[in-house]
Amino acid sequence: MRRRILVLAVLLLAALAAGLLWRGDIAVPAPWNPWAPLDLRDPPNLLTGLKLARVKADPDLCRAVLATSGLSTRPVPDREEAPGCVLSNAVAVSRAGVALDRGFVASCRLAVAFALFERHALQPAAQEAFGQRVAAIDHLGTYACRNVNHRAEGRRSRHATADAIDLAAVRLADGRRITVRQGWAGDGPEARFLHRLRDRACRIFDVVLSPDYNAVHRDHLHLDVGWFGTCR
Ligand SMILES: [Zn+2]
Repeated sequence: MRRRILVLAVLLLAALAAGLLWRGDIAVPAPWNPWAPLDLRDPPNLLTGLKLARVKADPDLCRAVLATSGLSTRPVPDREEAPGCVLSNAVAVSRAGVALDRGFVASCRLAVAFALFERHALQPAAQEAFGQRVAAIDHLGTYACRNVNHRAEGRRSRHATADAIDLAAVRLADGRRITVRQGWAGDGPEARFLHRLRDRACRIFDVVLSPDYNAVHRDHLHLDVGWFGTCR
């Protein structure tokens, strides 16, 4: 009985604290306030997933967050190319903090996740490994109306809704190019960098697939946003 009262008291206190937090009566720093919108400048923490989930579910919020990302984008009209291949609230990204070998079409939620990745995974990992910034990336594409692993049957890939990007190579400020195809194996500095990049990407994206996953991914990191998480 006493234990039940204790549990009830704790629940009541938690509800009260949540209410006060929501009303703004208790101030906590925005990165730790679950109701504060996602701020791309904040390093990822336990609440980032929750805040990203809200961004994914709310097109207006997504556009507002994307506007603060520093990415150069223009809107792409909604369209359905084929069943399951839908562009909705998508943008064409022509420039990020890093240069792109070519622009790409991305769902707003992918563009926001990419901006987080660039700032909090890509650049820190390069600084740690090589003491310099990443100047550019090479990618193998984002939007493609196709099924998972290019199979004729089965479910649609997240590429079919522009929710995925395949990262093939990174160019450092000094011009050195590190490719997933050549750099992944072994335990040299390039391999350590690429593995760390994969691990950091897993904190931001929902699905991250590397050469460790299967042969289809031997030359790129597949990074996508959705609802289920895999980090391979
Ligand atoms: Zn992919």
